[in-house]
Amino acid sequence: MPSILQVALDTPLYRLFDYRLPDELGEVAPGRLVEVPFGRTRQTGVALGPAAGSSIDSARLRDVIRVLDDRPALPADLLRLARFCADYYHYPLGAILLATLPPRLRNATPFVADTPWLVVTDAGQVAEPPARAKAQRALLDALRAAARSREELRAGKQVRHATALVEAGWAVWSRLPPQTGRLPQTAAPHAATAEQQQALARLLPALAEFGVHLIHGVTGSGKTELYLRLIDDVLARGRQALVLIPEIALTPQLEQHFRRRFPGRHITSLHSGLAEVARAENWLAAFDCDILLGTRLSVFAPMPRLGLIVVDEEHDASFKQQDSLRYSARDVAIARGKQANVPVALGSATPSLESYAQALSGRYQLIELKTRAVSAARLPDIELVDLKHIPLDNGLTRPALTALTETLARGEQSLVFLNRRGYAPALYCPSCAWVSPCPSCSARLVFHRHARRLKCHHCGLETRIPTECPNCGNPDLKPLGQGTQRLEETLTALLPGARIRRIDRDTMRPRAWAELGEAVHGGAVDILVGTQMLAKGHDFPNMTLALILDTDGALYSPDFRATERLFAQLMQVSGRAGRADKPGRVVIQTAFPDHALFRYLQRHDYPGYARELLAERKQLDLPPYTRQVLLRAEARTMDAALAFLHRAAALAPDTPEVSVFGATPAPMARVANLERAQLLIQSTNRLALQACVRDWRPQLDSIKPRVARWSLDVDPLVF
Ligand code: ADP
Ligand code: ZN
Ligand code: ZN
Repeated sequence: MPSILQVALDTPLYRLFDYRLPDELGEVAPGRLVEVPFGRTRQTGVALGPAAGSSIDSARLRDVIRVLDDRPALPADLLRLARFCADYYHYPLGAILLATLPPRLRNATPFVADTPWLVVTDAGQVAEPPARAKAQRALLDALRAAARSREELRAGKQVRHATALVEAGWAVWSRLPPQTGRLPQTAAPHAATAEQQQALARLLPALAEFGVHLIHGVTGSGKTELYLRLIDDVLARGRQALVLIPEIALTPQLEQHFRRRFPGRHITSLHSGLAEVARAENWLAAFDCDILLGTRLSVFAPMPRLGLIVVDEEHDASFKQQDSLRYSARDVAIARGKQANVPVALGSATPSLESYAQALSGRYQLIELKTRAVSAARLPDIELVDLKHIPLDNGLTRPALTALTETLARGEQSLVFLNRRGYAPALYCPSCAWVSPCPSCSARLVFHRHARRLKCHHCGLETRIPTECPNCGNPDLKPLGQGTQRLEETLTALLPGARIRRIDRDTMRPRAWAELGEAVHGGAVDILVGTQMLAKGHDFPNMTLALILDTDGALYSPDFRATERLFAQLMQVSGRAGRADKPGRVVIQTAFPDHALFRYLQRHDYPGYARELLAERKQLDLPPYTRQVLLRAEARTMDAALAFLHRAAALAPDTPEVSVFGATPAPMARVANLERAQLLIQSTNRLALQACVRDWRPQLDSIKPRVARWSLDVDPLVF
């Protein structure tokens, strides 16, 4: 009887694979990576353990090729977390496990972790090398002040002495960069405000075990400071902290902030913007780092001494992955916290209604910070400019322009928020009403003036700007509506002295944030123009005006989450104004000044609006009072997509607590030449819904004719 190993592979199949384990490979612990033959290729898989027997004839079982022992095994808690995800998101376990690994470690070619730093050990700190070993002594002294890189040592011909120190146990080669010595002097932490103290009095005793704590703090209330103090406590007990943040772009500045606050601690970061080797190294560093800062994928990082998970800006949509495994990192963080018996702190000035409802019901602990931490900083005044009575000129009203001029005259900074990048949302022919359609999508091509291109923001198509209307030949095409590029141009013309900078996905690369932050802090910028990227990030003490243009689309959108999102966005953007001792001012242009959203916004009343929205959701049976799963299908024709879904609906298990709605075309019905349709199923009973989908999913594979693509989205955010 040969021993059989169960292996998870990255395939779309919902099953594990059996391989014969040659004796010479010995035992293989669960979580170890192995290389196995698969069809005519080889694949990296995750060993899950011995199988008692196999349904496959032992003569046909293939052999495990080798164990990849140049890299650590996936720890047991991550295997357990992946099993939870497989079950909750109805996704293949193997695909999940392999997706949690950085790409470089999925690749079977040997990985040599680079250890470029020579660092002194505890023994080295107190060691007394013999007096005659002068060079060794000198090097050890130098190391006590700061780590040295292999390169420096090589250049100084000190490698031999380094090796001697390592052999004596006084120094080690380390993967982690040195974190002492060269950093700017740590600013002493502020004394906690009264509210922060109260919050700590509740949070610190709760750190010993699982619990979800929703920190609802107005912008500038010092949530970051609170996280830092919690982390301090966790590190002091020898545990690790995982901090999830929404944007890649924000990692470097937050990392700096953490490094200053925790000199000498091992801090590492993880996000998809890292180069392949760096990502693999940082993932490996997670095993023994103190703090890991990262975007949603970090929720799967190996942290054996995990003691706290923080999810900053927990309402942010980027925590939800929108393809393949459509997981919510916030929800997975909570599952991980529960499995590991570790507390989870969610923080936001505008919590998601999902989290807020849990807090109101008492399942999460609600911690509130109602005032700004800097004592002189008040929340800004919010004024509405009624577009029904005040005319627009190039997207701007007179009162908005006056506010900008006044702020400029005082030598203070403004930001202008417009959530549409590009020059204009479309190009328009006044003679035949052609409006630059994307040939592959139900969307308009956006006019990008600087790039001299029309671009589709959905399928990525780019074309040259036509010199005449493709429909009627009219050479006089006009931009339709305002994008951030055009706004920047308008402002430059109207305020010739002002120094204007634009921020949106077209201008911002991760590194550019730090540079921009310095430019704004240093007073080199008067007006920042941008999309929702403006809502995030640093606070600028001299920023006193936030001008918000054109938000009305969201007020009457068919998406039931549109007002929640808009409210959050406006609160966050408003929160950028008046952070320090100067009062802030927010001016919003809208044709619907009587909308309830503005009433709550003007009072900075998140709880009030949240309660109103929650009451509405409850009445309409919408999340968070019901759980949803969306089945999406994409096909060459809408008929084919809908036919697939009709068939799927007919196959859905007949469960009294679960409602299956009719198949409908998606709101964006066509993207990249595929027609998209969707089918919603929901229930107030999460377990019933999950059980129903568990039975349903395998049947979907058998539907004929097949469609180009289908997928299940559990707790969908975007429809
Ligand atoms: P939030 O994340 O809640 O928006 P931050 O943590 O960024 O707020 O804090 C806002 C500002 O208040 C920062 O400039 C921070 O240095 C300052 N701050 C935080 N806590 C205190 C405190 N206890 N005393 C004085 N200033 C504080
Ligand atoms: Zn035309
Ligand atoms: Zn397109």
